[in-house]
Amino acid sequence: MEERLIPISCLNAYVYCPRRFYLEFVRGMFEDNLHTEEGRSRHEVVDARGKEGRAVKKEEYIHRRSVMWKSDRLGITGRLDLLEEDGSGEVYPVEYKKGYKPRGREPWLNDRVQLCAQGLLMEENGLPYPGKGYLYYIASKARVEVPFDASLRNETLKTIEAGLAVARKEELPPPVSNRNQCFACSLYPICLPEEEEVIRGRKVNAKCILPRRLEDQVLYVDKLGAYLSLSDRQIVVKAPGGEVLGEVSLEHLQEVVLCGPVQMSTQLLHSCLYNQIPVHYMSLRGRYIGVASPSLHRHGLLRESQWRAHFNPAFSLKIAQNIVQAKLASSRTLLMRYLRDQKKEPEDSQLIDQLKRLIRQTETALDLDSLRGFEGMGGKLYFQQFQRFIKPVQQELFAFDGRVKRPPNNPVNALLSFGYSLLAKDCVGAALRVGLDPYCGYYHIMKYGRPSLALDIMEYFRQPIVDSMVITAINNGVFSAKDFLIYQGTCYLNERGRKKFIGQYEMRKKDHVTHPLFQYRMSYERTIELQYRILGKYLLGDIEEYTGFRIR
Ligand code: SF4
Repeated sequence: MEERLIPISCLNAYVYCPRRFYLEFVRGMFEDNLHTEEGRSRHEVVDARGKEGRAVKKEEYIHRRSVMWKSDRLGITGRLDLLEEDGSGEVYPVEYKKGYKPRGREPWLNDRVQLCAQGLLMEENGLPYPGKGYLYYIASKARVEVPFDASLRNETLKTIEAGLAVARKEELPPPVSNRNQCFACSLYPICLPEEEEVIRGRKVNAKCILPRRLEDQVLYVDKLGAYLSLSDRQIVVKAPGGEVLGEVSLEHLQEVVLCGPVQMSTQLLHSCLYNQIPVHYMSLRGRYIGVASPSLHRHGLLRESQWRAHFNPAFSLKIAQNIVQAKLASSRTLLMRYLRDQKKEPEDSQLIDQLKRLIRQTETALDLDSLRGFEGMGGKLYFQQFQRFIKPVQQELFAFDGRVKRPPNNPVNALLSFGYSLLAKDCVGAALRVGLDPYCGYYHIMKYGRPSLALDIMEYFRQPIVDSMVITAINNGVFSAKDFLIYQGTCYLNERGRKKFIGQYEMRKKDHVTHPLFQYRMSYERTIELQYRILGKYLLGDIEEYTGFRIR
């Protein structure tokens, strides 16, 4: 197979960390963080100053911007920010960097190698090899000369060789030993070096380098007939009569959730999608309908591995086993936690043992159907005790004698159903954010319109996020009979109830929890995303064991 040319920006990545080079160049993976977004927008400004490749005379200098060159012989390609020719006729490259000029030290080696590779490209394309290049630091509006001496040239040629060798080997290199570098690396959420070490048993605690919580907000609108439009990057929500109900900035908005008959202008929908903000649709009764999502994440390779694993029954079974085991284990832990403070019933310890046995039995399951059988039995045992979690003073309104889903038949089932729908929505959103296909799962059967992967991952979080929140809210007297619509045996939250529920749910998602495996604390919503990332690493073959979240 013909070898791909290495973009010179990837040489920069190689010197920084060979693993980063592999993820970017071989797997074509990229994640933005504040640094990369700022760097890109600064480069766009620089590129916009001149037409591609065209010479512009500026005082005694001649400038050519955005010059694209390649060398098949060396195996590299790249766009040169600026080629400058000074009054003496010497031509050299100038590379723009967004930060500040280094003080008391020479520029980082990765930046010098990237610049020197531009000199090599000039030479390969018929220009004399320059004796120097410049790094221009945008923040300090200053340039630093970089001499292209023999040692830098050799270092650059060695980097190209090493990069080509890593690409040929098709094996993820080990992480850098200096973890401080990882703090500034936008690929951390994909690479997860600390978490990988824990999963491989080489470490007990992982350093938390991921942001611990999502700062962005969720906009929910469930007012019948409300209309959302855009004005000056503000979302304006109006009631059917035209009264303004609220305004929310598009900045720092994570997603929009529309419940029931709520309209949105096309212009606003465009802006949401352009700004990578998904718009979720739910029915007024809390059923998750679907999502208008920004274009698919560019991690095509990740989705390819996801689909391949889906068609491999042994692989699917392994993932499904972990999901069911984690769900049963969380049910058991939650039961033990709630029953601890109650008057002991003779069957309690039997029940806990039964759940333990079921967990063990899942290991012997030969197919998904038997797993579903174990999960069903566990769910029945768990929900049989649910009533005991509710304080006696609340048991009149919140009487519960089993889980009924469609339609919910009492306030407890209405609360659980609405919570699971919100959780499904969040699991779809997180799958899209990390680049997985929410509709291709392993445990839940694929069916038209069913986000089976999101439902799979949701199994880890039903009890810790929704069930715990519902029990606490009921026991704290958050909900009353006025929050429900009860009609002909069905029960749903009304507008007032939904508003209360959404407030409680969003708070719960932001609660911090100690991750059972990595031992650091982070919000539940980040934990959902992390679970997808771990799955992604397993699907790509970067870790041999798949492991899922469970309550401790
Ligand atoms: S997170 Fe660290 S180990 Fe991973 S690619 Fe970035 S720098 Fe390398």
